[in-house]
Amino acid sequence: MLLHETLNIARKGSVFYKQNIKDLPLTSEDLLSCFRSLPIVTKEMVRARQVDMLCVKEPPAVVYHSTGLTGIPVTIFRSNNEIETMLSFYKYVFSFIETSLKWKQKPLILSTTSVHHGNMIMNPYEGHKLILGDNMEPDDDTLVKAMSILLKKHDIPGASKRVSIFGTSGHFMMLLTSYLLQSGFDFKRLAVKDIRVGIHYLSQRWRAIIQKNWNAKITTVYSLTEATGAATECYACGGLHFQPWIIPEIVGLDDEPAETGKVGVLLITNLYPLCQMQPFIRYKTNDLFVAMDKDCKLGMSYFFRGRLNNALLYEYCGKKEVELAFAPVDLYEIIDMLPDCKRHTNVTNVPSAINMEVGGIPKYKFFLKSYKNKALVTLKLELTYNSEIYTDRCREIKERIIAQLNKIAFPNLPNRNKLKVQYVVDFCKPNTLFELPIKI
Ligand SMILES: [Zn+2]
Repeated sequence: MLLHETLNIARKGSVFYKQNIKDLPLTSEDLLSCFRSLPIVTKEMVRARQVDMLCVKEPPAVVYHSTGLTGIPVTIFRSNNEIETMLSFYKYVFSFIETSLKWKQKPLILSTTSVHHGNMIMNPYEGHKLILGDNMEPDDDTLVKAMSILLKKHDIPGASKRVSIFGTSGHFMMLLTSYLLQSGFDFKRLAVKDIRVGIHYLSQRWRAIIQKNWNAKITTVYSLTEATGAATECYACGGLHFQPWIIPEIVGLDDEPAETGKVGVLLITNLYPLCQMQPFIRYKTNDLFVAMDKDCKLGMSYFFRGRLNNALLYEYCGKKEVELAFAPVDLYEIIDMLPDCKRHTNVTNVPSAINMEVGGIPKYKFFLKSYKNKALVTLKLELTYNSEIYTDRCREIKERIIAQLNKIAFPNLPNRNKLKVQYVVDFCKPNTLFELPIKI
């Protein structure tokens, strides 16, 4: 019903959707198939037809720009009525949680990430939230400030004395843990039991390090400014589940629905009334996901596989068809295992941290050339040393990387054995692979 309402307000109110959505069927079964045949909305379309997309003619309550982690930011409009609906909705949800959990004191939460993330209202949390700043990236100052808040005994009416929930980015978590480990910090001094990580992907290796030292559970949260709501990691199945007011779909690189278990691009649709002024209907996020049926009572499980912009794509059949050569997350897991690989870091001056590089993002770059049934994959990897000095070690790394790449390459290609792939691993000396950090 909410989908019907969403499509209806979009078609009635916006010039853009009036062209995309013709008549709406009355039965729910027909509605779903009609919905799945609607044109996909790309970031480029949103940028080009911004005003045409709007359904409310009054001046917006707020205009946001997405963070631009995936490229040029997208502008998002929200109306007064939309903000009011969100506020009353989240108030209802959290008062329900509070009543059912019968708290004597609200848990204390520290969040280092953006306070609003595309909404005029504070991001919803089930406790009392402390704000560190509106900083997406860690720096020296925020690391030190975060520690003082985490260690402090607070005195806030109705709330616990110590911070038990810590919401942050993957990069911040890696750097903070790295800093604490190197300064010999006693993690028993902390009261954090629940770490919620968003924005950057945490490798399995880093998840294990953080979980062991902090003695806290980690929950991955996937969200984007364009969506009202998020997907949260499930302890039962290990995948992410989207909140019920978001409809997720996975499509292949040809924009056709992807089979369960195949990597594809995530489309989202926000439902009315949580989305009113600028409906996002079948919006292409450019984030890669795989949907799996894990028989979880919360429904389909979704697993993040990286960003399309960082993925290697393979063109075959005379460039008529494009397939995924590597999912960024799989590549990242391999590179992240190598201490030899130099890391990006933007923390420079934290006292007692001798080498902050361990918590940074590895420096590497992949290239692919394809010809009919042949592919040439080149990996450029920046090392912490000169490869000519440690030749045996470099040979060892090279063999290991190629063996692992063979296992993860061309995940969606049915007859990938027929493809002849040649791998080249190119070691770069320290500070010679100058690029921006790869965000995955
Ligand atoms: Zn689940």
